[in-house]
Amino acid sequence: MLTMPIPEYLSEILDNVRAHTSGEVADYIPELKSANPHPLAVALCTVDGHIYSSGDDEIEFTMQSISKPFAYALALQECGPTEVFAAVAVEPSGEAFNELSLDGENRPMNPMINAGAIAINQLINGADSTVEDRVEKLRKYFSELAGRELTIDRVLAESELGAADRNMSIAHMLRNYGVIEDEAHDAVLSYTLQCAIKVTARDLAVMTATLAAGGTHPITGKKLLDARVCRLTLSVMASAGMYDEAGQWLSTVGIPAKSGVAGGLIGILPGQLGIATFSPRLNAKGNSVRGVEIFKQLSDDMGLHLMSTEPVSGHAVRSITREGDTTFIRMQGAMNFSASESFLHAIVEHKFQGNLVVLDLSRVLTFHSVAIRMIKEGLKRIRDAGFEVAILDPDDVLPDVRFSDGTVCSQIT
Ligand code: GLU
Repeated sequence: MLTMPIPEYLSEILDNVRAHTSGEVADYIPELKSANPHPLAVALCTVDGHIYSSGDDEIEFTMQSISKPFAYALALQECGPTEVFAAVAVEPSGEAFNELSLDGENRPMNPMINAGAIAINQLINGADSTVEDRVEKLRKYFSELAGRELTIDRVLAESELGAADRNMSIAHMLRNYGVIEDEAHDAVLSYTLQCAIKVTARDLAVMTATLAAGGTHPITGKKLLDARVCRLTLSVMASAGMYDEAGQWLSTVGIPAKSGVAGGLIGILPGQLGIATFSPRLNAKGNSVRGVEIFKQLSDDMGLHLMSTEPVSGHAVRSITREGDTTFIRMQGAMNFSASESFLHAIVEHKFQGNLVVLDLSRVLTFHSVAIRMIKEGLKRIRDAGFEVAILDPDDVLPDVRFSDGTVCSQIT
């Protein structure tokens, strides 16, 4: 039985960042102050529903601000963009998440800062909804995205409410300008309960993969959001998802993302995959220190930067066919992380017979470094399972045919 090298690769990344112990757990919510700072997890979910994770991927934590893009997507889906844009703008604010600010039309600058998120929360389930019905609607929808019943950490929400003067001021400001109708207390209660929905890194990877896939759930195949809603949500995440670090983030990591003060961080690669990390110590901007490091490495290694000019292509595995004793795996397009993931998935699923497996690269255009590593590792595993392996590479697109154990893959012409 062949196994996947991706979880091993993810564990390696966790080992690389484990030594980063700088930063502090969020302390403005009493209950978060006593959070365990040590957990560390990373999870990926492809748009085809393949999940890979490593570390403390089953530990629950509260979504906090990571709930904002999902609530925004639900509001867009329920109310349509016109109503949503009338309430909240889509400009990066460059300000801290809890800034008391509005734009020239008295709208919060974007849905990723608290003022915008409190206003978006109020759009869910209609203006006359009770707090409990509104929060239940969000909880149910988040659960559907995660593929399991999520619960709310009411103790944490209670503790946050006791120290929510800042968010209360924001809600009063929003009420003063007619952005929300509810009592300030109820608006903050509803938003705080939304933030207190508990997830694991794996849940978040699955939830984000639905946004990556244009609204189709990667596992159930259910259409949960319009593609346009996903595109809008990702755009706002790209420009405003990382608090006042958003510009730096977009240039170095280049993935639409959102972080939360409990230590979660999500990133979305449109059309490819959802990524989530969890590590509670935060930098001065409120983003998880080790989460940011993991994303930097993934983005570099996997060539995930959205502005990358390297070509991307779908359907990397063109066919797997057998001719006599030889199995041909025909690849096509640009080999990036997603392409090598589909190769690895295909070979793990395939029942190989005969004695020779040929990887045909004649239609491959380019190789990204992580794909070289993943594809060679996959090929080596086929060899270690008892088959002869060879590469057909007439244009020499694979620059290095040496396996990780030093042996060389044979080539055929
Ligand atoms: N509930 C938190 C607040 O509004 C969320 C903040 C965050 O994760 O950035 O203060």
